[in-house]
Amino acid sequence: MKRHRAIILTWLVGLFPALAAVIAVPWDQVAGVPAALNFLGRLTGIGGLGLMLAAAALSCRVPGFDKPFGGLTKLWQLHHWLGAAAFFLLLAHPLLLSLGNAHLSLDAAVATLLPPLASGAVWLGWLALLLTMGFMASSFSFFGKPRYQRWKWLHRSSGLAIMLALAHTFYLGRTIAAPWSTLIWYALAGLAVASLGYRFAFSRFWGRRRYRVQAIMEPATDAVELALKPLDRPLHYSPGQFVYLTPLDRALAAGYGEEHPYTLSSAPEEPVLRIAVKSLGDASRALQHIAVGSQVSVEGPYGNFFPETEEAGTTELWIAGGIGITPFLGRLRHLSNRDEPVNIHLVYCVQDRSRALFIEELEELAQNIRGFKLSMHYFYREGPLTGDFLRQCCPDLAERQAYICGPIPLLALARRDLLAAGLPGHAITTEEFELP
Ligand SMILES: Cc1cc2nc3c(=O)[nH]c(=O)nc-3n(C[C@H](O)[C@H](O)[C@H](O)COP(=O)(O)OP(=O)(O)OC[C@H]3O[C@@H](n4cnc5c(N)ncnc54)[C@H](O)[C@@H]3O)c2cc1C
Repeated sequence: MKRHRAIILTWLVGLFPALAAVIAVPWDQVAGVPAALNFLGRLTGIGGLGLMLAAAALSCRVPGFDKPFGGLTKLWQLHHWLGAAAFFLLLAHPLLLSLGNAHLSLDAAVATLLPPLASGAVWLGWLALLLTMGFMASSFSFFGKPRYQRWKWLHRSSGLAIMLALAHTFYLGRTIAAPWSTLIWYALAGLAVASLGYRFAFSRFWGRRRYRVQAIMEPATDAVELALKPLDRPLHYSPGQFVYLTPLDRALAAGYGEEHPYTLSSAPEEPVLRIAVKSLGDASRALQHIAVGSQVSVEGPYGNFFPETEEAGTTELWIAGGIGITPFLGRLRHLSNRDEPVNIHLVYCVQDRSRALFIEELEELAQNIRGFKLSMHYFYREGPLTGDFLRQCCPDLAERQAYICGPIPLLALARRDLLAAGLPGHAITTEEFELP
């Protein structure tokens, strides 16, 4: 419920200028098709800019801010949908305004779209829209999926697009009367600026903590677990949360100074942070060879995978795929230190035993933690995960809270199987290892 409230509130904040415009407009002035089209044109522009500012305000990455939204990955999903809705409204904005003048003449309709160059404010709007098209094309993979770092660079042009769109609105916006229009746009723009200011200035200099790579373990082929010792204030976090890790080892073949999200596989009470990294691309492959003694910076913690209530007595089903074991491992290490009985069943899906990360430690934890049961699902032996397999190893699954973490196809499959087995949607929590 908390999550739904946070989502609804964000949409309301983004749509507030449009709602104010609907309230402010004298209805006799929008009677008739041309006037109605003109008003819709203005409304879509106002709505689009409001939603864009709300999306920008969500990108602050203040640790803890993501919790009411269900974690940072869910917050990014909301940011993505706000941006998409803003984009489609902004596309409709010039078209509707032009259609609103089409009853005068075709020339008048075209001149609304493409006025003389002297009408600078209109061209500011076009520039904002063209920039928005540029970064949205990469977000929606219109021309194939761009490299993550390239996408990130393109996405930064959204800041300029927002500034141009604001200037366009300040010059031309007459729908909401002053001083309300100024107040509303200043308030929303202030939120967006504060958010981006935190993200790109404050957090960069004060929000990151320095750690030193103390040891490197190899829990399976193509994966390492780094033990990180704090060099200043240690991070406080809950099991299953994640951080942005920036390696500062200049000898790395790739990814020097680049931040990537990684889940903490350590228990919060340990003196070191542990991060398990699977080699999945350039930067994570290079991290397999990071030097012991080199420094990294860590920002976070983020995520809200497990509830914050005490573990004793909870009845849970965990489904992990491959490297998606990390949040569960962090929680198991924590439970093992607490030595309290639990009722947890973990189904760990991997291709075969040789691909299972931390398999010996997991088997040991299954011996030591009272009420914790481990079932392995080997793809090469069993094929894709099925509802029957889940029911066989965990007959009372419909009465459990389910947590799933792993590759997106596994999340979708497991979720479908659990729903089919009678588990309600609200009892299923997922953690994606991919940002939208
Ligand atoms: C919440 C979360 C928790 C994660 N936890 C772990 C973990 O515990 N262990 C682990 O091995 N992996 C984890 N990952 C995945 C890890 O972040 C990616 O494997 C890594 O960033 C890939 O970078 P690359 O350059 O090696 O690969 P690339 O080939 O560049 O990227 C592969 C994919 O990873 C994603 N990605 C790449 N760079 C970034 C970035 N800077 N920020 C966000 N996503 C990016 C993109 O979706 C991309 O398509 C997690 C991801 C998320 C979102």
